[in-house]
Amino acid sequence: MPRPSEGLPVTPIVAPEAPTSASPALSELSERDRPWDVHRAESDQIAANFRGTEFQRYSERIAFCSQLLDFRLVPDRDEGAYRLKLASTRLCHARQCQICAWRRSLMYKARAYKALPAVIADYPTARYLFITLTVKNCAVSDLRATIKHLNESFARLTKLKAWPGIGYIKTVEVTRSKDSTAHPHLHILGITKASYFGANYISKKEWCALWKQSLRTTYSPVLDVQAIKAKDSPVALLAEVIKYQTKPNDLIFADREWFLEYTRQVHGTKAFALGGVFKEYFRALEKDETTDEMIGDDGEGDVDEGHLYFNWQRVEKKYRMVDQ
Ligand SMILES: [Zn+2]
Repeated sequence: MPRPSEGLPVTPIVAPEAPTSASPALSELSERDRPWDVHRAESDQIAANFRGTEFQRYSERIAFCSQLLDFRLVPDRDEGAYRLKLASTRLCHARQCQICAWRRSLMYKARAYKALPAVIADYPTARYLFITLTVKNCAVSDLRATIKHLNESFARLTKLKAWPGIGYIKTVEVTRSKDSTAHPHLHILGITKASYFGANYISKKEWCALWKQSLRTTYSPVLDVQAIKAKDSPVALLAEVIKYQTKPNDLIFADREWFLEYTRQVHGTKAFALGGVFKEYFRALEKDETTDEMIGDDGEGDVDEGHLYFNWQRVEKKYRMVDQ
């Protein structure tokens, strides 16, 4: 209890979280909604990392993101069963918020799935490549310059005569190495003409030489190229490229100073880029994000058999059901 005699400003006392262990946790009721707990805990850590720094305003926004989740109960495919479908929540839309990054990647996935049939119809014999391009690790303080160098090198690669792609989507991923250096790399889903697997085929060794030439380095950089089988759809890899928007835990929980410097370095950089024919087909990916799309609509319609509400329990790191 505050003692008025001290005459100090009284800090409002926040009621302790009510003992709620009796009410069911979201993760217990719905297996597929487990990521809510994971990403909300990550966002709490990011909000804590940002507190008192130049990112203070993001700290506040992220701290208040998605505190209350409103789910609809919708009939499942199994007769008599129900599942949860997110109806509404307040999202902060901060780039570093892991709840928003997760929902954003689902939104991009949905937009890309919508666009893909037109690509497949217009280029029925095209093939797809999943390419990972790396550069030597750098100090986290050199990350911005290194990412710029990677992007410029990739632009040079696509201008080479040997470049087989007619379109691509590219994302930048940064991981943290054990020695605290940053490991920035590019993930690319490329579309090529069918002739790539004939006269225009590029071996792994040739790919390495082309990338080395584009990077203008003396060392041989590491690179990976996977071709998608002709009968397989590129949908899974499209999702894979887009998912690199969410950050692995070792970046968020490991080292506050490292994470802050990383944030400064990537602040304002583009999350992904489109090239060639993909520019046309995936234009929808570049539209502003909307809360509706980030909440998601899986076509369940308006069937509504009641709502369930869940509140974030910060200490317990779980969403639990509350009466509303
Ligand atoms: Zn958020």
